[in-house]
Amino acid sequence: MTQDCSRLKFVSAFFFFPMRSLLRRIGLRYDISRIANAYYRAKFDRIPAAEKAVILPHCLIGEKCKARFSKEDGVLCVNCKDCRCGEIRLLCEEAGWQFYISPSTNFTKRLVQRKGIRAAIGAACDFEIEKGIRSTRITLRGVRLQQKKVIPQVIVTARYDCLNNDIDWELLHRMIRDGAGGV
Ligand code: SF4
Repeated sequence: MTQDCSRLKFVSAFFFFPMRSLLRRIGLRYDISRIANAYYRAKFDRIPAAEKAVILPHCLIGEKCKARFSKEDGVLCVNCKDCRCGEIRLLCEEAGWQFYISPSTNFTKRLVQRKGIRAAIGAACDFEIEKGIRSTRITLRGVRLQQKKVIPQVIVTARYDCLNNDIDWELLHRMIRDGAGGV
C-alpha cells in the first residue's frame, strides 16, 4: 500500500469513528487498531531499539503473580511463569527494548514521559481503545501522551476484563522479533 493510500485510510478511519456502530451494522469491516497499526508501522520500525517498549496492562498477569510493585516501573515481573508476560520481558531484553507492566493508563502516560519512550506496543480492550481515541490527541505523526509524541502499535485484548485477560501472544512475539512488520 502506498504511503498516500495508507494515510487516507488512517484519516478516514478516525473521521468515521463516531459512526462505527452504523458501519458494522451495514456489514462494513471496521478495525481501527489494524488500520492505525498499518499506518504507523514503518515509523515504529525506524525508532531505535532502546527507545521502544512493550507496555502490557496488569489484566494479563497471573493470579499467583510473584512480582513486586514499583511506583517508578510498575509491576516488576520475575518470570514466575504463571503468565506469559515473563517470556515477553525476556524477549524485550534480548531485543534491547524496554518492558513494563502498567497498572493504569495514567501510569503508562507517566512512564512514557519518564523513560524516554518514543514507540510502544500496548494492549487494551475495545472499551479502553475507544476511551483513548476520545481523550487523546492522535495525529499522523503519533499519539500525544502528556507532552510526548509516541508511535503506537496496539493489540486488542480478548475481553473487557481487568482480571485473567488474554492477548494473541504469538502476534506480540512476531511484532518484537520481526519488527512491527511481523503483524
Ligand atoms: S510471569 Fe511475571 S507478570 Fe506473570 S505472573 Fe509471573 S511474575 Fe507476574
